[in-house]
Amino acid sequence: MSDRLKFAEDVVNDLQSTGLYNEIKVIGSAQGAWIEIEGRKVLNMCSNNYLGLANDPSMRQAAIDAIEKFGVGPAAVRSIAGTMSLHEELDKKVAEFKRVEAALTLQSGFMANCAVIPALVSKGDTIISDELNHASIIDGARLSRAEIKVYKHNDMASLEEVLKGPNSGRVLVICDGVFSMDGDIARLPEVVELAERYGALTMVDDAHGEGVLGENGRGIVDHFHLHGRVDVEVGTFSKAIGTIGGFAAGSAKLIKYLKQRARPFLFSSALTPPDVAATIQAIEILTASGELVEKLWENGRYFKAGMQKLGFDIGHSETPITPVMLGEADVAGDMSRRLFAQGIFATKIGFPTVPKGKARIRVMISASHSREDLDFALEKFELVGKEMGIIK
Ligand SMILES: *Cc1c(COP(=O)(O)O)cnc(C)c1O
Repeated sequence: MSDRLKFAEDVVNDLQSTGLYNEIKVIGSAQGAWIEIEGRKVLNMCSNNYLGLANDPSMRQAAIDAIEKFGVGPAAVRSIAGTMSLHEELDKKVAEFKRVEAALTLQSGFMANCAVIPALVSKGDTIISDELNHASIIDGARLSRAEIKVYKHNDMASLEEVLKGPNSGRVLVICDGVFSMDGDIARLPEVVELAERYGALTMVDDAHGEGVLGENGRGIVDHFHLHGRVDVEVGTFSKAIGTIGGFAAGSAKLIKYLKQRARPFLFSSALTPPDVAATIQAIEILTASGELVEKLWENGRYFKAGMQKLGFDIGHSETPITPVMLGEADVAGDMSRRLFAQGIFATKIGFPTVPKGKARIRVMISASHSREDLDFALEKFELVGKEMGIIK
């Protein structure tokens, strides 16, 4: 009998023999600065829980209350079998928070890209995309069947070169707000200006900017005061907001259109009531105070300064994301294992997520880290870094 899945087994074997097979750690506790893995408490230095909201007590309570009132499932694709008032409330909350006319929540950030991009452009149109854009932008772009052109990362001369064309049909420029592997910020004011000059639509995916940039974490558009000049903001609740879900935000015209044309909205069920209620509460927390965002930045500055002082190469991040540049994937893997033995959970990131020879440990700083936590991490990075001869 022939094994029709032998190809899959071959790939896995190959990854295992070259040390590239990704073993996923199992977490036995709620998210937080300290989590339980393999029966041990370890300091979490790689989650996207920027503000520590993933286990916030008031959000937990909001989720419980929503279950009491609305149950656990939406039992509906919103456009087909009715949408709960809770989902409408979240759409409005997101719009207010982002300071736009309207917003539409979707099931995830990945889905939001697959919803928005094919709704805006299709065969015969052109997408202009930063070379380091997130996988979900790339997949959303492919789904659209528009021609995809790539400009050099954050390079405005390269973007203009592509914008000059010739480009067919509608032209859509897309970039991440914060590039998650390096922590640098998109040069959005220039992107917008160039796009305006060449009559292109603009879209920014602010997954790592929400809760991080702008007033009280309103994101990159607010950070650069570009309100009304970016056609679509796509985002996620799965990072700083601490829950799950995605959204598109922009003009009322855009959102009305997306409700008729965005396929993941039209053909996939809504978020569950507890997700939605916890997310509404998270936005209320952010709207009320910028304290957590400030704490995140303060922690980021403290940790980065400490790492630099120790002699680590931490790239050129402009946000609390701290990439520890290590070169080869096996070095990064070795460091991650040694750190784990010391009580630090910090995973390695290698090819294909980042280019070959640019493997790293990406440290994700959180507002939930205390000063003692950061000092503990610096002490362990120093110990392991010296052990491996990475720092002197
Ligand atoms: C994480 C991320 C996503 C995916 O968001 P999910 O809500 O987890 O699906 C999309 N875009 C960017 C830029 C991201 O960093």
